Amino acid sequence: MESRLVYMDHAATTPVHPKVLEAMMPYFNQEYGNPNSVHSLGRSAREAVDRARETVAQILNCQSQEIVFTSCGTESINLAIKGIAKARGKTGHIITSAIEHHAVLHTIEQLEREGYTATILPVSPDGLVDPDDVRNAIRPDTVVISIGYANNEIGTIQPIREIGSIAREAGIPFHTDAVQAAGSLSLNVEELQVDALSLSGHKFNAPKGVGILYIRSGIPLEPQMQGGGQESGRRSGTENVPYIVGIAEALRLAQENLEAHNEHCISLREKLFEGILSELPDTRVNGHRTQRLPNNAHVAFRGIEAQSILMGLDLKGICASSGSACHSASIEPSHVLKAIGVPSEYIYGSVRLTVGIDNSQEDVSYVLEVLPSLVRRLQSLSPLVESAS
Ligand code: PLP
Repeated sequence: MESRLVYMDHAATTPVHPKVLEAMMPYFNQEYGNPNSVHSLGRSAREAVDRARETVAQILNCQSQEIVFTSCGTESINLAIKGIAKARGKTGHIITSAIEHHAVLHTIEQLEREGYTATILPVSPDGLVDPDDVRNAIRPDTVVISIGYANNEIGTIQPIREIGSIAREAGIPFHTDAVQAAGSLSLNVEELQVDALSLSGHKFNAPKGVGILYIRSGIPLEPQMQGGGQESGRRSGTENVPYIVGIAEALRLAQENLEAHNEHCISLREKLFEGILSELPDTRVNGHRTQRLPNNAHVAFRGIEAQSILMGLDLKGICASSGSACHSASIEPSHVLKAIGVPSEYIYGSVRLTVGIDNSQEDVSYVLEVLPSLVRRLQSLSPLVESAS
């Protein structure tokens, strides 16, 4: 077993930053008050939540009362899409794209079962949504548009500003799943012209289990949980004070280091692409070649299965991911890879490497030592590659 560990799965989750952990610690067992209590411990917890809300609002360029803390990205997305749709009426039309995260697609499917209708827009082979398609899909009964900022699998970044201005012109609330964008892209909601935006802490060095929803004031939102009326009635449940402090500190750090992070990740990503493509020229790059997240290298190898590649990498201490979901014995290619039309001889061999600030040039060199020879070995055993060549 290799002792070396190279983590290249930052789109799945990230380690908690030491400064984030440090900021959170007092709120577990020293400043442990309930922010809704009137005594001094309660007041200091309330102040911590207020400060966190203010920090997030500054980064998003919005008002602090437009920030709702949630338990994760999935909850933020559910609250945005269901909350906006249901506040508009018992039925209505929703627009989204075919490559959204399941948190979006399954939420909309649930609304369809309840009587809403949906238009699922196709994407280009690079994974881009055409803003004109959004414009053309708008109907008099459209209640919400939800298009992800950056795709979690292939990393393609959508033209959010353009879609935002189309939605605004039509007077339709526009939600974006920005879970993968935080730490790499601007979250300025005024520039983006979005009305709702979802974030998840664990993608930018806060712990798992805390999220943020930005909801523009004046956009009616039906709460999805009833209870004590916290978060101005939009999300009941006693505030998770340490995690709220943590997500705000993580967002502050991510924002502060955005340029350095992107520069570092792009240099690693490009080295990965160059190394892989020069060693294995018949490799496919999935997603847009340049309009993609700085940290995302998504590649597809001909005639082999991602699971074998991932296991081979894991044996060498390299953590990566695939664009395929394993359902018991069968491996199904993801809806994203199907939607961008990855050819059948490539679709099963798609691997996602997502780098982070903690990766080094040496990490990339190590991956480039291991991956091409692993792929060549698997391809030499594959009947699909034999027959194709
Ligand atoms: N949306 C995108 C694009 C994601 O990548 C993820 C997580 O993988 C989610 C939503 C869900 O976030 P969470 O894990 O916080 O529920």
